[in-house]
Amino acid sequence: MCGFGENFLSWGTKVINNLFEEMTYQGKSTKKNRIYSAVMARLNEAFPHTGVSPAVYRLLTKPMREVKVHLPIRMDDGSIAVFAGYRVQYSNVLGPSKGGIRYDLAVDLEEVKALASWMTWKCALVGLPYGGAKGGICCDPKRLSLGELERLTRAYTRAIAPLIGPKQDVPAPDVGTGSREMGWMMDEYARCVGREERGVVTGKPVALGGSLGRAGATGRGVVTLALAAMKKRNVAVEGAKVAIHGFGKVGMAAAEALVAQGAEVVAIADRSGVYYDPDGVSISEAIVHKRSGASLADFGGLEKISEAAMLALKVDLLIPAAMENLITGANAATIEAGIIVEGANGPTMPEADSILVTKGIMVVPDILANAGGVVGSYYEWVENLQGVGWSLERLTQKAGDRLLAVFKEVCATAERWGISLRKAAYLLALERVAEGYRWRGGF
Ligand code: GLU
Repeated sequence: MCGFGENFLSWGTKVINNLFEEMTYQGKSTKKNRIYSAVMARLNEAFPHTGVSPAVYRLLTKPMREVKVHLPIRMDDGSIAVFAGYRVQYSNVLGPSKGGIRYDLAVDLEEVKALASWMTWKCALVGLPYGGAKGGICCDPKRLSLGELERLTRAYTRAIAPLIGPKQDVPAPDVGTGSREMGWMMDEYARCVGREERGVVTGKPVALGGSLGRAGATGRGVVTLALAAMKKRNVAVEGAKVAIHGFGKVGMAAAEALVAQGAEVVAIADRSGVYYDPDGVSISEAIVHKRSGASLADFGGLEKISEAAMLALKVDLLIPAAMENLITGANAATIEAGIIVEGANGPTMPEADSILVTKGIMVVPDILANAGGVVGSYYEWVENLQGVGWSLERLTQKAGDRLLAVFKEVCATAERWGISLRKAAYLLALERVAEGYRWRGGF
């Protein structure tokens, strides 16, 4: 078992008090965090449509395990800072728990619990042999040096090492992390357990057993579902107007693929603001600009508009691809998009759901719309367990087919019961996890 070791534990309190930096590299969550209750609201709405017993339902609304760790890190200036890290394993009924690691200042237990719950329903909905989990560290990765980030990632991995493993709980990238962090995690885990276990994390660098195509899998999935939704609504892709909120991995991939199909992206947004061009933003140039590490604020040539103005744009497709709680009870009525495809986790608050339904807006819910990422992760894990490597084409084809089949199933369920796609998705997911409980028992 690995840990902080004798030296660390024997330090005197006085020394520690002097050395520990008071959270200067971190922040407190400023967001009024209601997202866990947002997940519960969706479960409560879907539950009456299911055949799940109230006793099992009670279990489904509780996380299996919630862990908080404190990570002391030597900073480059010689000081020691303590970071808070989390891992919530919401469910392992259908298989090892699965879900990403988020590095962001808004990370706290409430958020991680909500995200772990979403992973449970997402994995069940798309038929993966996984439960759900999520982890994160409250930090601003942009303010940490490469060395600090590596030490933090390794400390976090050591702290949760007893809880993770290819057949136990399998982390992956999320907001603020990517293949680099997964490579460090895989390596640190191997040092902890004394053997190579490539399947302990997904989204790794290809050289360490990562899948070809995992990096763009979430974005590709969002596009697959956006195209399917447009087809269902008889909206031509050629010339369709699109607004994308969030211009990170998912937003950029979605924008690029939609433009390649003839759509026009008229608004994009990052943390610096929302930018608009009625004639279509040059996405290839915006991507080169963003990849250079610059913010959209310095991109130039676009009109800066408010978030409220972006939501009110008359577009065919709106893709929230940033963080939670963008669409609220207060702004939902102003939304003029025909279709919303939720690339982010939890971008719509429960109060907004019925308003969007009344307005006739088709919402492809997050647990389906962004499931391409974890589907890609699943194939990477299968490759690792079998010791093989698939071609990019094979992974892309299989992931696309799976998402389209689930989209059809969700649409059919929604039509059958006269409910929204979101309710239908939760209904299917809840029933699958409950079915797992039914056969496993063990109470
Ligand atoms: N972080 C991604 C998500 O929210 C991927 C998780 C995974 O691949 O395990 O779906």
